[in-house]
Amino acid sequence: MRKVSNKILICLMAAAALAATPAAAQDIEAHGAHVHGEAQLTLATDGGLLEIMLASPAANLLGFEQKPATAAELKTWQQQQVLLKSGQWLQLPAAAQCVLQQQQLEDPWASAGQHADISLSLSYQCKAEELLNEVKFTLFAQAADLQQIAVQWVSGGQQGAATLSAKQPVLQLPGTE
Ligand SMILES: [Zn+2]
Repeated sequence: MRKVSNKILICLMAAAALAATPAAAQDIEAHGAHVHGEAQLTLATDGGLLEIMLASPAANLLGFEQKPATAAELKTWQQQQVLLKSGQWLQLPAAAQCVLQQQQLEDPWASAGQHADISLSLSYQCKAEELLNEVKFTLFAQAADLQQIAVQWVSGGQQGAATLSAKQPVLQLPGTE
């Protein structure tokens, strides 16, 4: 085997890194930062409507990011799709009487790349939006590689941000009462 000097190897690696930049930049533009272990969530309430949007590297929720190929990967993807769309990865106060109306899950592999993002939106109609004073996220127990969720919320005429984790899985909201 021909010996490649360290200098040449470093140059090749730098060139590869540069070549990878445009795609990575596009990724960040389209989906926000792609950091394994972290997810972003936005929550907004308005006139009885509750909108929740989750953006997460697929690895957090599936344990892999390539398009599922094996039977085990397909099963995992199938199960997580059902879970995500059902909204059974978060708990709303029963008193707020929220009913899931719509869910939209984008195809994580629609664009080619080494990484894949899960993008999900859920819409609820709440009869008593004023009683929506907290949201508990059980997703940490249902997605082994998820460490934290960065939340931005607008509710009850206020807005705020919070970082949730398995130890701190409850988002406090003002409610309006
Ligand atoms: Zn990734």
